[in-house]
Amino acid sequence: MIEQINNILPQTQCGQCGYNGCRPYAEAIASGTADINQCPPGGDEGIVALAQLLNVNPKPLNPAFGEHKPKSVAFIIEEDCIGCTKCIAACPVDAILGAAKYMHTVIASECTGCELCIAPCPVDCIVMQPLPEPLSAAEKTTRAQLAKQRYEARNLRKQREEAENLERARQKKAALLKLKSAS
Ligand code: SF4
Ligand code: SF4
Ligand code: SF4
Repeated sequence: MIEQINNILPQTQCGQCGYNGCRPYAEAIASGTADINQCPPGGDEGIVALAQLLNVNPKPLNPAFGEHKPKSVAFIIEEDCIGCTKCIAACPVDAILGAAKYMHTVIASECTGCELCIAPCPVDCIVMQPLPEPLSAAEKTTRAQLAKQRYEARNLRKQREEAENLERARQKKAALLKLKSAS
Protein backbone atom coordinates (compact mmCIF):
# COMPACT_ATOMS: atom_id res chain seq x y z
CA MET A 1 0.00 0.00 0.00
CA ILE A 2 2.85 2.44 0.81
CA GLU A 3 4.32 1.85 -2.64
CA GLN A 4 0.95 2.35 -4.34
CA ILE A 5 0.40 5.63 -2.47
CA ASN A 6 3.96 6.76 -3.22
CA ASN A 7 3.46 6.07 -6.92
CA ILE A 8 0.54 8.52 -6.95
CA LEU A 9 2.55 11.29 -5.27
CA PRO A 10 4.37 13.69 -7.64
CA GLN A 11 7.88 13.03 -6.25
CA THR A 12 8.68 16.73 -5.99
CA GLN A 13 10.29 15.88 -2.60
CA CYS A 14 9.54 19.39 -1.34
CA GLY A 15 8.41 18.58 2.21
CA GLN A 16 5.35 20.83 2.08
CA CYS A 17 3.20 17.94 3.32
CA GLY A 18 5.12 18.11 6.61
CA TYR A 19 7.22 15.02 5.87
CA ASN A 20 10.79 14.68 4.63
CA GLY A 21 9.78 13.60 1.12
CA CYS A 22 7.03 11.77 -0.70
CA ARG A 23 7.72 8.30 0.66
CA PRO A 24 7.56 9.36 4.34
CA TYR A 25 4.23 11.06 3.56
CA ALA A 26 3.03 7.87 1.82
CA GLU A 27 3.98 5.91 4.95
CA ALA A 28 2.05 8.38 7.14
CA ILE A 29 -1.07 8.14 4.94
CA ALA A 30 -0.86 4.33 4.98
CA SER A 31 -0.60 4.30 8.77
CA GLY A 32 -3.53 6.72 9.13
CA THR A 33 -1.49 9.52 10.70
CA ALA A 34 -1.72 11.92 7.72
CA ASP A 35 -4.64 13.03 5.59
CA ILE A 36 -4.79 12.70 1.79
CA ASN A 37 -4.96 16.46 1.13
CA GLN A 38 -1.52 17.68 2.25
CA CYS A 39 0.42 17.67 -1.05
CA PRO A 40 0.22 20.98 -2.96
CA PRO A 41 2.30 19.83 -5.97
CA GLY A 42 -0.05 16.86 -6.48
CA GLY A 43 -3.04 19.18 -6.91
CA ASP A 44 -6.67 18.09 -6.94
CA GLU A 45 -5.96 15.21 -9.35
CA GLY A 46 -3.52 13.70 -6.85
CA ILE A 47 -6.08 13.93 -4.03
CA VAL A 48 -8.75 12.28 -6.20
CA ALA A 49 -6.35 9.45 -7.11
CA LEU A 50 -5.46 8.90 -3.44
CA ALA A 51 -9.14 8.94 -2.46
CA GLN A 52 -9.91 6.31 -5.12
CA LEU A 53 -7.05 4.08 -3.99
CA LEU A 54 -8.03 4.32 -0.33
CA ASN A 55 -11.79 4.19 -1.00
CA VAL A 56 -12.51 7.45 0.83
CA ASN A 57 -14.12 10.72 -0.23
CA PRO A 58 -11.85 13.31 -1.88
CA LYS A 59 -11.51 16.68 -0.15
CA PRO A 60 -9.99 20.03 -1.13
CA LEU A 61 -6.26 20.65 -0.61
CA ASN A 62 -5.64 21.80 2.96
CA PRO A 63 -4.34 25.39 2.51
CA ALA A 64 -2.26 25.05 5.70
CA PHE A 65 0.20 23.03 3.57
CA GLY A 66 0.47 25.54 0.70
CA GLU A 67 -1.15 26.05 -2.65
CA HIS A 68 -0.84 24.42 -6.04
CA LYS A 69 1.49 26.39 -8.35
CA PRO A 70 2.43 25.95 -12.01
CA LYS A 71 5.47 23.71 -12.45
CA SER A 72 8.76 25.60 -12.39
CA VAL A 73 12.46 24.75 -12.25
CA ALA A 74 15.38 26.42 -10.51
CA PHE A 75 17.86 28.53 -12.41
CA ILE A 76 21.22 29.74 -11.04
CA ILE A 77 22.44 33.21 -12.03
CA GLU A 78 25.89 31.84 -12.63
CA GLU A 79 27.84 35.12 -12.59
CA ASP A 80 26.62 35.71 -9.01
CA CYS A 81 27.34 32.17 -7.70
CA ILE A 82 30.21 32.02 -5.17
CA GLY A 83 30.51 28.20 -5.27
CA CYS A 84 29.56 27.59 -1.65
CA THR A 85 27.85 24.20 -2.46
CA LYS A 86 24.96 24.87 -0.03
CA CYS A 87 22.41 24.33 -2.81
CA ILE A 88 23.90 20.92 -3.63
CA ALA A 89 23.50 19.84 -0.01
CA ALA A 90 19.85 20.97 -0.06
CA CYS A 91 18.76 19.38 -3.33
CA PRO A 92 16.82 16.15 -2.63
CA VAL A 93 17.35 14.74 -6.14
CA ASP A 94 20.97 15.74 -6.92
CA ALA A 95 19.89 18.06 -9.73
CA ILE A 96 22.69 20.61 -9.18
CA LEU A 97 26.20 20.32 -10.60
CA GLY A 98 29.18 22.15 -9.17
CA ALA A 99 32.16 21.98 -6.84
CA ALA A 100 33.48 24.15 -4.02
CA LYS A 101 34.51 27.60 -5.25
CA TYR A 102 33.22 26.87 -8.77
CA MET A 103 30.07 28.10 -10.45
CA HIS A 104 27.04 25.83 -10.01
CA THR A 105 24.30 24.96 -12.46
CA VAL A 106 20.90 23.22 -12.34
CA ILE A 107 20.11 20.26 -14.61
CA ALA A 108 16.67 21.55 -15.58
CA SER A 109 15.34 18.18 -16.76
CA GLU A 110 16.08 16.68 -13.33
CA CYS A 111 14.87 19.58 -11.17
CA THR A 112 11.54 18.86 -9.47
CA GLY A 113 10.86 22.51 -8.61
CA CYS A 114 10.91 21.78 -4.87
CA GLU A 115 12.49 25.19 -4.09
CA LEU A 116 14.61 23.71 -1.28
CA CYS A 117 17.79 25.22 -2.75
CA ILE A 118 16.48 28.81 -2.64
CA ALA A 119 16.72 29.59 1.08
CA PRO A 120 20.25 28.21 1.72
CA CYS A 121 21.85 30.30 -1.07
CA PRO A 122 23.75 33.09 0.72
CA VAL A 123 23.77 35.39 -2.31
CA ASP A 124 20.19 34.84 -3.54
CA CYS A 125 21.33 33.81 -6.99
CA ILE A 126 18.78 31.01 -7.48
CA VAL A 127 15.44 31.89 -9.05
CA MET A 128 12.46 29.76 -10.02
CA GLN A 129 11.38 29.87 -13.65
CA PRO A 130 7.99 28.49 -14.75
CA LEU A 131 8.15 25.89 -17.52
CA PRO A 132 7.25 27.48 -20.88
CA GLU A 133 4.47 24.90 -21.38
CA PRO A 134 2.63 22.61 -18.95
CA LEU A 135 3.92 19.02 -18.90
CA SER A 136 1.80 16.32 -20.52
CA ALA A 137 0.59 13.43 -18.35
CA ALA A 138 3.28 11.17 -19.86
CA GLU A 139 6.01 13.75 -19.18
CA LYS A 140 4.80 14.15 -15.58
CA THR A 141 5.01 10.38 -15.07
CA THR A 142 8.50 10.17 -16.60
CA ARG A 143 9.78 13.06 -14.48
CA ALA A 144 8.21 11.64 -11.31
CA GLN A 145 9.84 8.23 -11.91
CA LEU A 146 13.24 9.85 -12.47
CA ALA A 147 12.86 12.03 -9.35
CA LYS A 148 11.89 8.98 -7.28
CA GLN A 149 14.98 7.08 -8.45
CA ARG A 150 17.28 10.03 -7.81
CA TYR A 151 15.76 10.70 -4.35
CA GLU A 152 16.16 7.05 -3.34
CA ALA A 153 19.72 6.85 -4.73
CA ARG A 154 20.67 10.01 -2.84
CA ASN A 155 19.21 8.69 0.41
CA LEU A 156 21.13 5.42 0.02
CA ARG A 157 24.35 7.33 -0.67
CA LYS A 158 23.81 9.52 2.42
CA GLN A 159 23.15 6.46 4.59
CA ARG A 160 26.34 4.83 3.27
CA GLU A 161 28.38 7.99 3.91
CA GLU A 162 27.00 8.22 7.47
CA ALA A 163 27.90 4.58 8.13
CA GLU A 164 31.44 5.14 6.73
CA ASN A 165 31.91 8.25 8.90
CA LEU A 166 30.77 6.33 11.99
CA GLU A 167 33.15 3.48 11.17
CA ARG A 168 36.07 5.92 10.67
CA ALA A 169 35.30 7.57 14.03
CA ARG A 170 35.12 4.13 15.71
CA GLN A 171 38.49 3.10 14.24
CA LYS A 172 40.08 6.40 15.29
CA LYS A 173 38.77 6.01 18.83
CA ALA A 174 40.00 2.41 19.01
CA ALA A 175 43.48 3.46 17.76
CA LEU A 176 43.66 6.27 20.36
CA LEU A 177 42.66 3.90 23.16
CA LYS A 178 45.32 1.45 22.00
CA LEU A 179 47.96 4.19 22.03
CA LYS A 180 46.89 5.30 25.50
CA SER A 181 47.04 1.80 26.95
CA ALA A 182 50.49 1.23 25.40
CA SER A 183 51.95 4.44 26.91
S1 SF4 B 1 5.55 16.40 -3.47
FE1 SF4 B 1 6.12 17.51 -1.62
S2 SF4 B 1 4.19 17.82 -0.53
FE2 SF4 B 1 3.83 16.24 -2.08
S3 SF4 B 1 4.18 14.31 -0.99
FE3 SF4 B 1 6.09 14.86 -1.98
S4 SF4 B 1 7.24 15.94 -0.39
FE4 SF4 B 1 5.11 15.93 0.27
S1 SF4 C 1 17.59 22.31 -8.09
FE1 SF4 C 1 16.55 23.32 -6.37
S2 SF4 C 1 14.40 23.37 -6.98
FE2 SF4 C 1 15.42 21.90 -8.32
S3 SF4 C 1 15.16 19.91 -7.32
FE3 SF4 C 1 17.10 20.71 -6.61
S4 SF4 C 1 16.64 21.80 -4.72
FE4 SF4 C 1 14.70 21.47 -5.79
S1 SF4 D 1 24.00 28.14 -2.82
FE1 SF4 D 1 24.05 29.84 -4.28
S2 SF4 D 1 26.12 30.68 -4.15
FE2 SF4 D 1 26.16 28.67 -3.16
S3 SF4 D 1 26.81 27.28 -4.81
FE3 SF4 D 1 24.58 27.27 -4.79
S4 SF4 D 1 23.99 28.84 -6.29
FE4 SF4 D 1 26.14 29.17 -5.81
